[in-house]
Amino acid sequence: MAPELAARLVDAAVATIQNHADELTGLDQAIGDGDHGINMKRGFDAIAAAAELRTLPLGDALQKAGMTLVMTVGGASGPLFGSLLMAMGKSLGTADIDPPRLAGMLEEGIAAVKKRGKSEPGEKTMLDVLVPVAGAIRAASGAPCDALILRLRAAADAGLEATRPLRATKGRASFLGERSVGHLDPGARSSQLLVHAACDAVAGVTP
Ligand code: ADP
Ligand code: MG
Repeated sequence: MAPELAARLVDAAVATIQNHADELTGLDQAIGDGDHGINMKRGFDAIAAAAELRTLPLGDALQKAGMTLVMTVGGASGPLFGSLLMAMGKSLGTADIDPPRLAGMLEEGIAAVKKRGKSEPGEKTMLDVLVPVAGAIRAASGAPCDALILRLRAAADAGLEATRPLRATKGRASFLGERSVGHLDPGARSSQLLVHAACDAVAGVTP
């Protein structure tokens, strides 16, 4: 039998972070302190080790995954991605997931990141991927699942690329000022990777 959605999401997310940890660290070496891949891998290794998480209903699994990130990751990204997942899980609760509900979950998650990070889109952070992805889900929530997935992937890719010309005004990259221009934001790359992993899990692509 195919694993439940929570288990497939965990497997896909863990695999993509593990496979891209060195690249994420490289991006953070350019405009930060070079630990983003290490931070994300530590957090997602802990999620992988929490075996019971794979058997929980999705809302509970998201909340537990978020708490795991907050507790295991030292950098800014742990509390920020942790807040995102916890708020998404809380928003879903015990309801069944569908596109409008997914949009609402992501909007709640984004609100939690903005509050915790005191940040807005356009500041060269993970929000520059998450916000357009949420917008794409809202705009296409009546579309067939495969069309919705394509639009989510495209929104994540465009959001990531849009961070390149931006000047960072939040996080460590902001210390570089103008020198942050011309580089992709590491947290935006993680967000884009996680969006693709979630799309793969829903589409049944095995990592
Ligand atoms: P640290 O900055 O503590 O070394 P990481 O390197 O793991 O943590 O994460 C850096 C990423 O976190 C950035 O690329 C950015 O996407 C995200 N980030 C940092 N500060 C903020 C913030 N205030 N709001 C939103 N995202 C942020
Ligand atoms: Mg860093």
